[in-house]
Amino acid sequence: MRLCADVGGSFIDLAAFDAEARIVWRRKVATPVADWAAFGAVFAEAVATVPCSAVSIATAGLVDPASGVVTSANVPCIDGRALARDLATALALPVRVVNDADAFVLAEATLGAGRGHDRVFGIILGTGVGGGLVERGRIVSGAGGIGGEWGHGQVIHASPRAPDAMPVFACGCGRQGCLDTIGSARGLERLHRFLHGVEADSIAITRGSEAGDVQAAATVAWFCDLLGGPIAMLLHAVSATIVPVGGGLANATALIAALDARVRANLLTPVTTPVVVPGQLGNEAGLIGAFVAGG
Ligand SMILES: [Zn+2]
Repeated sequence: MRLCADVGGSFIDLAAFDAEARIVWRRKVATPVADWAAFGAVFAEAVATVPCSAVSIATAGLVDPASGVVTSANVPCIDGRALARDLATALALPVRVVNDADAFVLAEATLGAGRGHDRVFGIILGTGVGGGLVERGRIVSGAGGIGGEWGHGQVIHASPRAPDAMPVFACGCGRQGCLDTIGSARGLERLHRFLHGVEADSIAITRGSEAGDVQAAATVAWFCDLLGGPIAMLLHAVSATIVPVGGGLANATALIAALDARVRANLLTPVTTPVVVPGQLGNEAGLIGAFVAGG
């Protein structure tokens, strides 16, 4: 059996998979974000309860493919640590660690919305923007583990004639105008505030748009306009043919359908079937991706 975990800033979701990829044991515990010994103990207790021969972890943050060092803002006790090596030493078991967005795409490419496609570019539209590229069942990590991180790099610029007309927001990466600032659930809310001067959460905006609210519909339309071109450009660049969507906005089916239409309008080769589609594996994508990544 293999122990798989999806490590987030609030919870660690644990599952033991048998050889037929069935989940035979499951547990969810609060993440000991600042205590490495307690973090290791979560895994030690799990493998003491369910005998496993290997451990696979999906975690938020970058995983450097060369050094194995994790960069994590949400879980300080693993930040800067060669997590796979250190946990393997503590548990005396082989440990594999992958980025959680990569795990999502790997799961969807293997068992979900991306089945049958050679190249799958999955995107996360959640608290922020993330993503990953999977080619024939293999994660394309890129230098420093940034493969698939399409949310950063300035895309939105102010016009010199109307400096306040465009939503050029400061990004957490230190730049401004990144898609991460407008492409997530928080970004949808920022756009709504910028456009209408009104505070609303992303669920109210997407539901309002579906119900015919003019302001919400304008926000959703602008959101799709701003993201549609860059996503199409990504698909051209990497020759991916399907874009499973994860994160909270994946549940906003009308928004995803509108984004899909905007992306397809920008594709050089006409496609008659949906390209941007909700992921099919829900909250278990991270665990399943960790399992698949572990081989
Ligand atoms: Zn940025």
